[in-house]
Amino acid sequence: MIEVEIKVNLSNENPEKILESLLKMGFLKKEIKEQTDTYFNGIDRDFQITDEALRIRCSKTVGKNDEKIYVTYKGKKLDGISKTREEIEVEVFEVNSMHKIFEKLGFKPVRPIKKVREIYQKEDIEVSFDDVLDVGKYLEIEKVVSNNFERESALFELLDLLKSLNISTDKLEKRSYLELRRGNRE
Ligand code: ATP
Ligand code: CA
Ligand code: CA
Repeated sequence: MIEVEIKVNLSNENPEKILESLLKMGFLKKEIKEQTDTYFNGIDRDFQITDEALRIRCSKTVGKNDEKIYVTYKGKKLDGISKTREEIEVEVFEVNSMHKIFEKLGFKPVRPIKKVREIYQKEDIEVSFDDVLDVGKYLEIEKVVSNNFERESALFELLDLLKSLNISTDKLEKRSYLELRRGNRE
């Protein structure tokens, strides 16, 4: 799968206005998730340099007791403006054992990134209002496609949506939450 994704910093935006526009366009609230993500660094290569990612995510819906755990690999970004990349994800059922397996193999965990993610959806587009601990508030717009042919038109679709929300493409953020946190205080 290819994750076509754009991200913008909300600190100079009006989230209420953005939400109002989304609802007008027919987006519906899906859920609010609390996510704790542990990223690992590579054994034979530095994922910061290769722009890859290996992650264990614990994700739970606010108000429910439904924690799910996912292991995700992300490939390097595929274009110069968005965060589009290959994404391979599986669900696992035991977080501590998964963590131990990666550590035993030599992968080095980074301090987890925690966030609350409020998700809105219309057809196959998801818009997330993310409140990331020690990082700030961001908006992510995402569409998952299955091949490279669909990638470009999906990106244009997301950029169009950004425009309809009155957000300039100058605001696009390519850095990950990990990199943004580093920039903030590490
Ligand atoms: P998702 O979109 O899958 O829900 P997210 O929105 O929580 O993820 P992002 O910031 O979009 O988080 O993506 C995670 C990022 O972490 C990836 O862009 C990846 O390149 C980055 N990353 C992973 N490991 C490292 C590392 N060791 N150093 C720097 N960046 C890393
Ligand atoms: Ca993202
Ligand atoms: Ca995403």
